[in-house]
Amino acid sequence: MKVVIVGAGLGGLVLARCLQHMQCGVRSVAVLEKFPTLRPARGGAVGVTGGAAILVKVGLGDRILPIRTAMKTLEQRSRGALLAQRDFRSLLEKPPFLYKGQMACGLFMRDTLQQTLADSLDNGTVMLGKEVISIEQSGPKASLRFADGTADGDYDLVVGADGIRSTVRRLVWGEYSPIYSGYQILYTVAAPRSNRDPNRLVQDYHDDCLWLTASAGGERQYDFCALAMRHDNPEGFEWTKQSSQIAVIKEIERRGASDEVRSIVSNAVRVFDWGVHMNPIPSRWFQGNVVLLGDSLHATTPFMGQGANQAILDAHSLADKLERLHRKELPSLEAALTEYNRSRLPVVKRVAMMSNRLGATFTLRPPWSYARDAMFRNTTLHLRLLSKEMIPVY
Ligand SMILES: Cc1cc2nc3c(=O)[nH]c(=O)nc-3n(C[C@H](O)[C@H](O)[C@H](O)COP(=O)(O)OP(=O)(O)OC[C@H]3O[C@@H](n4cnc5c(N)ncnc54)[C@H](O)[C@@H]3O)c2cc1C
Repeated sequence: MKVVIVGAGLGGLVLARCLQHMQCGVRSVAVLEKFPTLRPARGGAVGVTGGAAILVKVGLGDRILPIRTAMKTLEQRSRGALLAQRDFRSLLEKPPFLYKGQMACGLFMRDTLQQTLADSLDNGTVMLGKEVISIEQSGPKASLRFADGTADGDYDLVVGADGIRSTVRRLVWGEYSPIYSGYQILYTVAAPRSNRDPNRLVQDYHDDCLWLTASAGGERQYDFCALAMRHDNPEGFEWTKQSSQIAVIKEIERRGASDEVRSIVSNAVRVFDWGVHMNPIPSRWFQGNVVLLGDSLHATTPFMGQGANQAILDAHSLADKLERLHRKELPSLEAALTEYNRSRLPVVKRVAMMSNRLGATFTLRPPWSYARDAMFRNTTLHLRLLSKEMIPVY
């Protein structure tokens, strides 16, 4: 089988790794990326929970341990006052999340994880500067055209892993628009402070906004803080737009923030903002021999930290169905894609819905915020719900 993956983001690269590592009967796999580089030093941190078990399973344990910061505790605060402290270790410090006795899941710098995944692939798998602009399906084969005027074909499977504004989805499923979520995020990445416990995540709820503070990146660690706030202006959804540090400082003064946030902002090495958009999730994930995964299908709000994680789970699920096809446990490519679609659709719908509900809860205004604080102080219900969706490998 000849497979082409459009997009060298996290989902596309993990799929390529799975296809090269598992017995899927794939003769050739290429990952095409429209940008001429993997755009290092863009974006911030991504959370990988259940997806870490997948990365370990496909032989990446030694590569990911040094670049992840384990998530051990969560501190929930309201306007700076401590509501509750949660310990993730009982959930995450056990198989299948353990590698060499250490928790494999955690927070990664997106650009480092992307480069690490690309480095794990056979030479020549990733082709940079290849922007797909058209797809032609003819019987069981498909061909692609690129913005540089070239074309290639004879593919048995085309995978659209090309992110929130997916060209593959638009070309094959028809025009669609990501939906503005009503949240805007101001994001700051900083050189680490020596006295910050890197394994501690802090959520601090203020009226109509949430501050998140954490560390990511393992041995080359960064601290980061994100201000997620309700906002009418949909702005763009680029992860590359550098907004001025002054704008973040203005929000800190206006909304209040902890000393920890202030210190991260004053040490910033990267500041950017974006309007959070979501993709409407189609019920059918494949058309002929073209299939989608990751943000192209289900870009969600970030409140459960599941964007990268769900893309990784999609990628492994798809590879698993191709492996079952190869072993003749599934009768056809259509059956394999149907099984992938059937198993993943309800999961990502639930995650998207829960993430939206959490976002609404985190950003409540008084008097409703008092009820939220009481609930967070006195019950672990929301955490149990969260872990039910964050943790599973499938
Ligand atoms: C630059 C960047 C920074 C990010 N930063 C963060 C962050 O700080 N925190 C967070 O939680 N999430 C971040 N995300 C989103 C997060 O990485 C995704 O939610 C998640 O990894 C799902 O990944 P994906 O593989 O589905 O899509 P993506 O990771 O978005 O990857 C899609 C890839 O497809 C490429 N592509 C698009 N169109 C074409 C085309 N026509 N031809 C060829 N290639 C194409 C894109 O350039 C991109 O590399 C970021 C995404 C990007 C692209």
